[in-house]
Amino acid sequence: MSLYRLLSFGTKLFSKKFISGLISTPPNIERHKHYIRSIKRKHIALYVHIPYCLEPLCRFCCFVRYPLRRKADMINYASALLEEIEWYHENLEEASIGSIYFGGGTPTINISVLGELIDSLRSYFGDVPITVESNPRTLVNGEIDELKSLRIKRLSIGIQSFQNWRLKKMGRFSLPVEENKRIIKEALGKFDTVNIDMVWGIPGDTVQSVIYDAVESFKLGVDQVTFYPIMPPPMKSKVMPDYVSLPIREELKLYKALLVTTLSYGYRPDTPWCMSKITKGQQLIDEYITEYYDFVGIGVSSIGKIGNYVYVNHFYPEKYIRSVRKKKLSVTRSIQLGDIDRALFDIQSSLFGLGIRKPVKIISTTSFILWSLVHLLFNTLVSLRDIHENIPLLYALHLIQKTLYTGMNTLREIGMRYKL
Ligand code: SF4
Repeated sequence: MSLYRLLSFGTKLFSKKFISGLISTPPNIERHKHYIRSIKRKHIALYVHIPYCLEPLCRFCCFVRYPLRRKADMINYASALLEEIEWYHENLEEASIGSIYFGGGTPTINISVLGELIDSLRSYFGDVPITVESNPRTLVNGEIDELKSLRIKRLSIGIQSFQNWRLKKMGRFSLPVEENKRIIKEALGKFDTVNIDMVWGIPGDTVQSVIYDAVESFKLGVDQVTFYPIMPPPMKSKVMPDYVSLPIREELKLYKALLVTTLSYGYRPDTPWCMSKITKGQQLIDEYITEYYDFVGIGVSSIGKIGNYVYVNHFYPEKYIRSVRKKKLSVTRSIQLGDIDRALFDIQSSLFGLGIRKPVKIISTTSFILWSLVHLLFNTLVSLRDIHENIPLLYALHLIQKTLYTGMNTLREIGMRYKL
């Protein structure tokens, strides 16, 4: 237990330093241009954020999202996105985009606008594999076929739970459970990968409640199930008054139950949270960008990372749109990481994808030594047992990611609260 505590404590320190460094550093547009133009002959990922959702918003949600009250808001937002996309197309001189991910919010809130964005991205970057997140409430009237006709490769459907008491506890406004299942079945086979998102670790969860949702998910035969731990930042306690982060011993029990259920239903972890059908091979929906060192974020609150450089866009749609109209860009904060911090960043994302890549280039001797040591330790741990069944190792990686993402959610909460 103490090793887990130590890991969690160390990650918290790293995350705090990173978030406070990022928040206190205003952007430098010239530096931004320099980094984007400096990407040479490389595959990078592109993330596009759609910040609107149907009302009521889910209480447990930590993403940057706003209720869509007027159709025109989405249209104005999309036209700013198109300008920002154009800027990146002009400035990403030698880089090629290897994958595009639409996250939110609810990207499927207006499918015809989504289609225009996809067409434009394809015209600039070619026929890149596209992943789209969705809320089943936007998929009730044949929209799945519309998405299929947009040639989307991977569809992710936010379900969160198949138990009404859990949905209520999360403050999630959902379709009836049976309707959600019908929508999932309708989507199966129409995309290369259908993923469903589930949440665990909410107040009142037990081994039984977590296993129940896992079994219901696997029985549907989806290609992939992502089990997110709930990760509210501390200041969210007002909207989630009974939320208490589970003690490690309790959480580990739930995680073990999840993993054992996963393996017994013919699935395996591709990351500590993402369970894929073994027969399917790896078709991972890579929300946490474990396959790329560098990624560009477009839209409200999106984060990008190129080498040592990390930036985040404005968090508030009106501010975002104003900034894009004026400068074609909407960066609100950016930071240049030291070599060690960057190596830690890259190692962590690589480990979360259950692999460890060699550094693209030797950043500095110290970070290379650090990288090699982690590589050695990781391989030793993996050789002790099949990585996909190694509960202590997977739990440790979960803990690191959860701590980092709670930090990211703190950043999002601050960004929304203070309209950065
Ligand atoms: S969980 Fe999804 S649908 Fe609910 S508010 Fe968050 S982004 Fe919107």
